[in-house]
Amino acid sequence: MVADTTSNKWRAGSQRLSLVGSKFENISGCILQCWRPILLLMVVVFVMAAPMEIAAASLDPPPAFIPPPPEDGNTPLAPPLNAQIAEYEVQQGDTIWDIADKFETDPDTLAVINEMGNWNRIYPGDTIKVVTVRGLIHEVKPGDNMKDLAEEHNVDIEDLLAANGLKPSQSLKVGQKLIVPGARPSQEAVAAARGEAWNWPLRGSITITSHFGYRWGRFHHGIDLGAPQGTPVVASRAGRVTRAGWSGGYGNLIIIDHGDGKTTRYAHLSRMAVSVGQRVDRNEIIGYVGSTGRSTGPHLHFEIRVHGSAVNPLEYLP
Ligand SMILES: [Zn+2]
Repeated sequence: MVADTTSNKWRAGSQRLSLVGSKFENISGCILQCWRPILLLMVVVFVMAAPMEIAAASLDPPPAFIPPPPEDGNTPLAPPLNAQIAEYEVQQGDTIWDIADKFETDPDTLAVINEMGNWNRIYPGDTIKVVTVRGLIHEVKPGDNMKDLAEEHNVDIEDLLAANGLKPSQSLKVGQKLIVPGARPSQEAVAAARGEAWNWPLRGSITITSHFGYRWGRFHHGIDLGAPQGTPVVASRAGRVTRAGWSGGYGNLIIIDHGDGKTTRYAHLSRMAVSVGQRVDRNEIIGYVGSTGRSTGPHLHFEIRVHGSAVNPLEYLP
């Protein structure tokens, strides 16, 4: 009885269903009967989807960087409207020169705008800023105005406005980054960014206890800096360690090659913090003051050599 009731209900339901879809007995019947509307639907979907795809493509952001037209050497480089500051990810094998070529700028500009510290130390995956014109980036400080900036960098105010897509009436926002087309970095900034700047091999106040040159009938190849045992010794310029070990009268000696015929020597160290082959940045700790080798008390003996010949470090140190 119970079963019968259920099957009756089921039959009733199925009759209702077959009434609703009276034209189609089952799915295969449906496909057989309505292939024409299905085909039509497919055509409509296809026709509508194609322009949507085109629209989606045109919504893609434009490439971040549009290279400026090549310079032929004769025409003065006119700053394009709205010069851009873009970012570039350093690729395997890229040098600063390669990147400068790619963006038609110069290595000094790239090194300076990125405050590189040492332009030999850029690695794949690093992100660096590039500008699409030769020039510098100026971050607006309180009180800055276009007229003064143009004068300070010795560029035409019209060029400055054009490069940044600004109107003369527009006010500057503190922190805003402006492209200063045609501005050249200072020599000091270039030297620092290239890794060619010098600093003293000890931080803080310096006491020279012995100068370069003859003393007591012997030639002193460097300067002696008095400092307590264990005082950190820093690289006076970026370079590569070519020696880190015992060397007779020098005691524990570190030699750094700076790549342009110049080397520096740091002697009598109590301890060394770098090893041969290592690249070091300017002002990076390389060891500690000691009194090893021919020494009468803790001090740093420091030399600068040019093509192997000792020169007076005071001619190079700031
Ligand atoms: Zn000395």
